[in-house]
Amino acid sequence: MPYNNKTIQKFVANQRHKIPENTWSLLSETGLMDSSDQVDKRLTVDDLRDVAVWMARDLGLKDIALDVESCSTEFVTRKCRNCQLRPATVFHCDLRLCPRCYYRNLFRFFHRHKSAMREMDVYSVISVAYGMFLAEDVPKALEFAKEVHKKMLKALPLLFGGIYHIEIKRDEKTGLFWINYHYLINGTDSWAIYFAEVLGEKAWVYAWKQFTDRTSVIRYFIRECCRYPTSVILSPDYMKWYLDITARMKLIQGFGDMYKITGGRMKGKKLKLEHKCPRCGGKLEKPMRVSRDQVRWDKNLKCWVYVPPTLAQQPDKPKLVD
Ligand SMILES: [Zn+2]
Ligand SMILES: [Zn+2]
Repeated sequence: MPYNNKTIQKFVANQRHKIPENTWSLLSETGLMDSSDQVDKRLTVDDLRDVAVWMARDLGLKDIALDVESCSTEFVTRKCRNCQLRPATVFHCDLRLCPRCYYRNLFRFFHRHKSAMREMDVYSVISVAYGMFLAEDVPKALEFAKEVHKKMLKALPLLFGGIYHIEIKRDEKTGLFWINYHYLINGTDSWAIYFAEVLGEKAWVYAWKQFTDRTSVIRYFIRECCRYPTSVILSPDYMKWYLDITARMKLIQGFGDMYKITGGRMKGKKLKLEHKCPRCGGKLEKPMRVSRDQVRWDKNLKCWVYVPPTLAQQPDKPKLVD
């Protein structure tokens, strides 16, 4: 059955009764209605990283702070057992706190999933809110949301598949935490109606947007729905809490036909370099962290190589005087 935008507007307006009045006004005020709030709009990834490092150190998370600080600036080298070559790769901390890794992994995720998305089709982004919760209730609410999400997908077998992202976001005014699920689907925005129908009283659809090309929908999804969670992760009171409750969670995943897509060009390349010597194919020893000035680019091998400090670079030994 074809739905136009007006029908959807009306439908969502109809489910307003499910949303408490003060929550509804907060939804509009905080900009959650159009998902365009962006406290960190003018901050670069490196600005965020500086804050993350500073804050982690302040909270006593020394190792985490050090790893985030060295991320993408230091190198990891492993010596070849066979030919003694020391190939090196850029060090990535892969920590959730690290904004660089956060976005790098996000782009890699989309790189892997892009080809699985049907081309020439229509795409939509649909956002679902589960409401606001006290910090101590968030883990339970996340479990609840997970169950509802599973049931919803089960109830919509005609949905081809897509990607969903779980967002935990702090409301500045109340100090409570939003739990939102953002869906990127292969389909029109009329799916917002089916989503709302299945969700019933348990959650509500608060935003939806339709796209006609893959690149722009991915760009929008990354920028608006999967943003680095500044409001929670860069809060001195909740950084540890957030890292803890999300430690074993995958915040972004594919579902339906997009479930568990692995591989991809970048991943393959990296694995190759990490496990085998690029010169002789020999086994590599345990990794060691080195600084940028200790590696050089090898044109022939097309990889970074660690150069141990030579005798010439060492300070002169005191000469013996007769
Ligand atoms: Zn080798
Ligand atoms: Zn990192």
